Amino acid sequence: MMIKKSLHCPACGSADFLADVGATWDVERQEFVVVTNFDICTCNTCATDFDKPEERILAEEGTNN
Ligand SMILES: [Zn+2]
Repeated sequence: MMIKKSLHCPACGSADFLADVGATWDVERQEFVVVTNFDICTCNTCATDFDKPEERILAEEGTNN
C-alpha cells in the first residue's frame, strides 16, 4: 500500500499553491527537471508566502482489501 501525502498552505490549509523551484532543461528527456527544492511557496487562495508547507498523510483510496 502506498502512502501518499498532500501539502497545504499553513495559513489557510489550501492545497492550491505554487512552489518556486529551480528547473533545468533535460535534452534527453525533452522536459524540464527540477534541480532544486522549493524555497518559497505562494498560496493561490490567501496569497501568503511560506517556506514550509504543512504535510498531511493520506490513506490510499480505491482498494477495499
Ligand atoms: Zn493559504
